Amino acid sequence: MKRILVTGGAGFVGSHLCERLLSEGNEVICLDNYFTGSKQNIEHLMDHHYFELVRHDITNPYMVEVDEIYNFACPASPIHYQYNPIKTIKTSVMGAINMLGLAKRVGAKILQASTSEVYGDPTVHPQPESYWGNVNPIGLRSCYDEGKRCAETLFMDYHNSNNVKIKIIRIFNTYGPRMHPQDGRVVSNFIVQALKGDDITIFGDGKQTRSFQYVDDLVEGTCRMMNSRDEFIGPVNIGNPVEFTMLELAKEVLELTNSKSKIIYLPLPQDDPLQRQPDITLAKKELNNWEPKVHLREGLQHTIAYFDELLKSK
Ligand code: NAD
Ligand code: UDP
Repeated sequence: MKRILVTGGAGFVGSHLCERLLSEGNEVICLDNYFTGSKQNIEHLMDHHYFELVRHDITNPYMVEVDEIYNFACPASPIHYQYNPIKTIKTSVMGAINMLGLAKRVGAKILQASTSEVYGDPTVHPQPESYWGNVNPIGLRSCYDEGKRCAETLFMDYHNSNNVKIKIIRIFNTYGPRMHPQDGRVVSNFIVQALKGDDITIFGDGKQTRSFQYVDDLVEGTCRMMNSRDEFIGPVNIGNPVEFTMLELAKEVLELTNSKSKIIYLPLPQDDPLQRQPDITLAKKELNNWEPKVHLREGLQHTIAYFDELLKSK
């Protein structure tokens, strides 16, 4: 049995990760400041003998004896990370320093949830890990993109200078149950709009692409990365390479929800990437043939069922 710290554990991805780690017989300490996460996300784990919940902000140091740390604390949706951009970058940078300091002191292995946003608006397609990215350092998205890039730098430097055992994953757009309903991300927005009969808001012409990964596939890839051979530290892309336009996504959601909602077009936000698709060759090679298993249609069905329940209960 390992004792594992999950920062951001009450968030969308973090809650699924806590669940998985507990089911494997580990002791889990879930740390969160509830900025975008909630106790409801982990309510079903509260009675578990080996689950512990801690209210804490990772911009402040935290001490605990653990074997592994999954550093997932950080708002991930543009409206939330742009709400207080200085706080966002502090969470990525000071949070990384605090968690790396902890890992160094107690000899824990630490995994960083980085992002495909480190590639910015990519000029190489699909994106391999060797691509350095095309990021605007002073734009609306930079508090998140540059914060995550700096966190990767810190992870590499703690590893090279202090022998801290690190792992870095670059997560591509992930969706599933327990996304925040007002999260502003495209999958939750379209589903909630379709279920309520509101207009489906496409930003720009809807021809921009994203590659959507179901949360279970991400959790599987994340755990395989933590348990991969010591010399393999990443960064490694974890995402689903099947690419869709936002218009295709909207049509799929409309069909699956049987909704009469209208599609409307709104202006494209500043620095919105035109395309994004992971090259997962490295993940397949290093993570025991890991690849996403859940097709968009199936993943959307689970997610729609979740939001349908949630909206009915309100
Ligand atoms: P989320 O917003 O649901 O979860 C983030 C969690 O971190 C929340 O529970 C929030 O309350 C907590 N948090 C935020 N700031 C904190 C702080 N300073 N101290 C303590 N807790 C704090 O987002 P998510 O989609 O679950 O993302 C989880 C992680 O995965 C993030 O680091 C994100 O950058 C990364 N990621 C997610 C995606 C995706 O598509 N979901 C893509 C790339 C990277
Ligand atoms: N988007 C959209 N309508 C929405 C929300 C988002 O058309 O209601 C678009 C957004 O402009 C972007 C894509 O969907 O091109 C994915 O947005 P999201 O915020 O989910 O992820 P990110 O841009 O961070 O990849």
